Amino acid sequence: MISTDTRYQFTRDELASLLDDQPKYRVDQLWKGLYDEGLDIEEISTLPKNLREQLESLLPVALHHRIVKVSEGGETHKWLWGLADGDAVETVLMHYTDRSTVCVSSQAGCAMACGFCATGQEGFRRHLTTGEIVEQVIRAREAAKPRRLSNVVFMGMGEPLANYDAVWGAIRRIHGDLGLSARHITMSTVGLVPGIRRMAEEQLPVSLAVSLHAATDELRTELVPINSRYPIDDLADACAGYVAASGRRLSFEWALIAGVNDTEEQAIALAELCKELRAHVNLIPLNPTPGYLTVGTDMPGVKQFQKWLLDRNTNATIRRNRGTDIDAACGQLRANQSGATEVSISQKRPVL
Ligand code: SAH
Repeated sequence: MISTDTRYQFTRDELASLLDDQPKYRVDQLWKGLYDEGLDIEEISTLPKNLREQLESLLPVALHHRIVKVSEGGETHKWLWGLADGDAVETVLMHYTDRSTVCVSSQAGCAMACGFCATGQEGFRRHLTTGEIVEQVIRAREAAKPRRLSNVVFMGMGEPLANYDAVWGAIRRIHGDLGLSARHITMSTVGLVPGIRRMAEEQLPVSLAVSLHAATDELRTELVPINSRYPIDDLADACAGYVAASGRRLSFEWALIAGVNDTEEQAIALAELCKELRAHVNLIPLNPTPGYLTVGTDMPGVKQFQKWLLDRNTNATIRRNRGTDIDAACGQLRANQSGATEVSISQKRPVL
């Protein structure tokens, strides 16, 4: 059998049909090695050597090391992976006191063109496959050991709901085969209404985060251009449908941009929307990117914006900006790469 897919693209049944001339227990051995132990095929010593060699070429890895950066203390790991076609995507692993989260990419590049986002500035190149997404999670899970990888967030490169089938295929695999609970998997979207409506039909109640960034249509269309197609009222309606269907609390992402979306007027409009949807707000000071000149709100401004929300009974937390010292923020590693292939360990501490 000739295969062009990468190893984590295959379901267990598909691996079984690939091995149909072998004793049945070989499938268990291969599965255990790949999924439970996160081994490379050549390391699965229960399989005979010649079979391992065949499987290595039938089931190639999707992700090739280009750059790995680890912040001091190992709290944040960041990979820039080379793909088979020469493209590159990023994955970030973050350890917190109560959880370990991997931030995965769903596309190489992105078509959504949000001006402040490094990936949006690059444009769209291609969708990732289920196998390429699942492999990011497996690699992070192995690197996290002895800590347990507990959360997966689709907040890396790309718009996950624009690549629905491959992303949902990966979610099923992450839940069913890797054993993460649905609420520990977060779909982060720019607000593609048809995708949110589709999610409401699914069986797995994953968490939903919407990258809102502005609570009035005029400003939101400026920051997140797809808002002209799916304005805030439609988006809110789809979100309400998802919350009702899944029973999950909704969260809004809000990157604070100095003098742009950090005003009291925006806070008031956001609090209204949150009240209606019983949503939580994640405030993120904007990370600087090469193609966007406006800077992030300073910490007193972030705290003020949070206070405006809290005063209106809106739950808002400030997200720690992790890994800026290792270019872990928002597409920076790819944007800053100079064709380097080395493994570098940052000496600086992550910025709080
Ligand atoms: N396309 C999806 C997921 C990828 S981006 C989405 O839009 O949700 C993940 C989050 O990072 C989004 O909330 C996005 O708006 C935010 N983001 C992008 N660039 C940023 C920057 N420069 N600073 C802070 N947050 C940023």
